[in-house]
Amino acid sequence: MSETLRPLILVCNDDGFYSPGIQKLTEVAQRFGEVRVIAPDRQQSAVGHSITISQPLRANKVKMPSGLDATAVNGTPADCIKLAHDKLMDRKPDLVLSGINHGSNAGINIIYSGTVSAATEATILGYPAIAVSCSDFDEDADLSGCADAASRVIQFVLKNGLPKGVTLNVNAPAGPLKDLVWTKQADSRYVEEYDGRVDPFNRPYYWMTGKFELLENGSDLDVSVIDEGKASVTPIQYDLTAHGFFHEIKKNVL
Ligand code: MN
Repeated sequence: MSETLRPLILVCNDDGFYSPGIQKLTEVAQRFGEVRVIAPDRQQSAVGHSITISQPLRANKVKMPSGLDATAVNGTPADCIKLAHDKLMDRKPDLVLSGINHGSNAGINIIYSGTVSAATEATILGYPAIAVSCSDFDEDADLSGCADAASRVIQFVLKNGLPKGVTLNVNAPAGPLKDLVWTKQADSRYVEEYDGRVDPFNRPYYWMTGKFELLENGSDLDVSVIDEGKASVTPIQYDLTAHGFFHEIKKNVL
């Protein structure tokens, strides 16, 4: 019998290599293959698709709190994936996972998310990629449902692959998995409620406390599905062209 290599799975996140969420996702990934954890060395939530261009990146061998080996990078989630792809891996991954993020990455959160951007960067580089988030910010939240949802989506992707340019964005509430459904990104935004205060030197400062506002309703929307206590999986793409409008507008002469 010939020996086949187990799938190589790269795991990243935006909360840092020490977070409970990446620990949980690493445990899930280990059921499916050989795992490498390459993640930011510090909290990088809401950095979006930012990359580091004006300072050197360092990649240091570290131990996760569980004792697992990981590589910590002094950069963003997208930096981690780019560096992993170009320099840090002895063979290319078969799958890239990002998460489990502590906090929802549904609706407009997708665009601010470092977690999703790690997965998106992997998609850009040609790897099947899945972002996984728990809608509960609490680092002590029960991630079992997120882990079960991730497990089902990983099986699906390892079996079926993903079309070029498509990333899967998984969100689940804390607690056991109730259901897992395909969804669309809900139109939503933050009502930017900055808390304005005054520092000890009498200068004003502002702290973002934005309130999430849902701008549409529908049973197939990520935010709605999560609100019903179910897990959501949304196919997303980094191609930002407004395709529908492009077909309309191109009839006009400029
Ligand atoms: Mn985060």
